[in-house]
Amino acid sequence: MTVLAQLLAAMTSGAVDIVDLSAPLSERTPVIQLPPPFANTKRFSRTVVSHYDDRGPAWAWYDLELGEHVGTHFDAPIHWISGREGLDVSQVPLRSLIAPAVVIDKSAECAENPDFLLEIAHIEEWEQRHGRLPEGSWLLFRTGWSARGDDEQAFFNADAQGPHTPGVSVECARWLAEEAPIVGIGVETVGTDAGLAARFDPPFPVHHYLLGAGKYGITQLRNLDQLPPTGSILVVAPLPIVGGTGSPARVLALVPRGEEARP
Ligand code: MN
Repeated sequence: MTVLAQLLAAMTSGAVDIVDLSAPLSERTPVIQLPPPFANTKRFSRTVVSHYDDRGPAWAWYDLELGEHVGTHFDAPIHWISGREGLDVSQVPLRSLIAPAVVIDKSAECAENPDFLLEIAHIEEWEQRHGRLPEGSWLLFRTGWSARGDDEQAFFNADAQGPHTPGVSVECARWLAEEAPIVGIGVETVGTDAGLAARFDPPFPVHHYLLGAGKYGITQLRNLDQLPPTGSILVVAPLPIVGGTGSPARVLALVPRGEEARP
């Protein structure tokens, strides 16, 4: 059998499972809310072009309006000033869009502390158990936050201080950008940075360091609990928007199930 025939057979038998990591995209999709004086992006909305009616008797279709950074989406380097000379979303190499995925699970810690920050020590601890981060991999940060994804208030978890959602420390963001062999980070929250990261130094360090290093982000992932710590393949499909700073994306994982699928 060819390698692709083997893959198809594995998907048919269930030895390789396909898991959808994307959140459904609708008018109810939570969208990041920046405080004044910053401008905010548009929520998802649609208007009818025709609906099997006079405007188009045999067809239905809609016009969409939404920000690039709405729902499960991809951050390209040019999204941030530190990466402004980098790639736009249409230029991202395909090899980065289909790549190994590893999962670091801090959902228990985040349930205790919504302001939990991932540190370099947590990744070193993970590496002692699971081996080094694979070259060219996506680091998926499991926080359990996706369970709140259908309740905007719980998802933002904001008080007078601002949103309280987990993220990555400044030191860890710099390390992931400059030292780790990853192509990007995927998170369950509305953005790749912690809720309170506007007051970090630098502000929004994941955006600042990773996009500045030509790496990528993916947000609002779901179903990370269905992935093992290592061994999955991520398939992320942002739209090839020319000059785009990001794009809503379908994100899938190919996940080994059972003994025969594991290394
Ligand atoms: Mn974004």
